[in-house]
Amino acid sequence: MKRIYNFSAGPAILPEEVLKEAANEMMDYQGSGMSVMEMSHRSKVYQQIIDDAEKDLRELLNIPSNYKVLFLQGGGTTQFAMVPMNLMKNKVADYIITGHWAKKAAEEAAVYGKVNKVASSEDKIFSYIPDVTNLKISPDADYVYMCENNTIYGTKYHTLPNTQGKPLVSDASSCFLSEPIDVTKYGLIFAGAQKNVGPAGTVIVIIREDLITKDHFPFTPLMLKYDIHSENQSMYNTPPTYGIYMCGKVFKWLLKNGGLEAIYKINVEKANVIYDYLDSSKLFYGTVEKKSRSLMNVCFKSISPEIDEEFIKQAKAKGFDNLKGHRTTGGMRASIYNAMPINGVKALVSFMKEFEQNLKG
Ligand SMILES: *Cc1c(COP(=O)(O)O)cnc(C)c1O
Repeated sequence: MKRIYNFSAGPAILPEEVLKEAANEMMDYQGSGMSVMEMSHRSKVYQQIIDDAEKDLRELLNIPSNYKVLFLQGGGTTQFAMVPMNLMKNKVADYIITGHWAKKAAEEAAVYGKVNKVASSEDKIFSYIPDVTNLKISPDADYVYMCENNTIYGTKYHTLPNTQGKPLVSDASSCFLSEPIDVTKYGLIFAGAQKNVGPAGTVIVIIREDLITKDHFPFTPLMLKYDIHSENQSMYNTPPTYGIYMCGKVFKWLLKNGGLEAIYKINVEKANVIYDYLDSSKLFYGTVEKKSRSLMNVCFKSISPEIDEEFIKQAKAKGFDNLKGHRTTGGMRASIYNAMPINGVKALVSFMKEFEQNLKG
């Protein structure tokens, strides 16, 4: 068996320890005689799995009791519709446009109501996070929407927007559980699992209770109502059982390793290894404004697209895979989520140095 250094933006690397545990439990989960993916979601043994996952997530993020945790399906993209369908009571919402995913979310919300774009970084190809300290919040806005970490461009908010009391909705898909956060600052946080916490197919929603109502947009499907999922503890229909089980294992792995304070420290250290090199290199450079840099997705380029292509090719041959940037940006992107060990980042930087040296000849 040979494992590569996987820098994929998502679905992405998971902790090896977690994968091994899942492999050991594949045929017979703790004496049940079944795989988790073969068992009824109504069984006692499965109930324990989902209860533990919620309990551990609450502990990791210190989630207050007036917030519900939901394990849903449909990825991050389904939340682009679910948020406005449930939260747009006045049919007005403010969106901050910091990239592809924020733009998509705003387009989807515009189907259901008026979307005000209160800030944007599109003028510089989303290479920075705009100033959000003094936004022109609409007086009748139902919520303010942000994409907290921009997976494609490699930017992240390092201070939350001043929403002037409006609920803050955050797409945290690609920075979920990468650092401690204050949940009380948010009305709703959602995250597709496949970036930092588990396999694709599960999306986690943390929502303040008062935002869960029966006052939806007309024709809202049952499956897109937060109140239905909340009343049924994420078991209105069959939830993504195996995905939730894997997320639960990742939560336990984080807790065992010191929780979010500890992983944040490692994430900063990891990101510094690569950003410090980018800042000193004559060949490569980081593509985003320094103060907006993401700890999870590091976007960079070399001095020419031809060299980029050659770099990606040679890197792949050495076992550093999925370094190609998104098709809309070109260049490279190293996604260094929680599960990427610091040695993986150090090995990549050694290879980059070697490549730069060889090019000089
Ligand atoms: C990947 C991603 C999405 C889309 O997730 P899907 O699960 O594919 O729908 C949304 N937002 C962000 C920030 C992402 O990184």
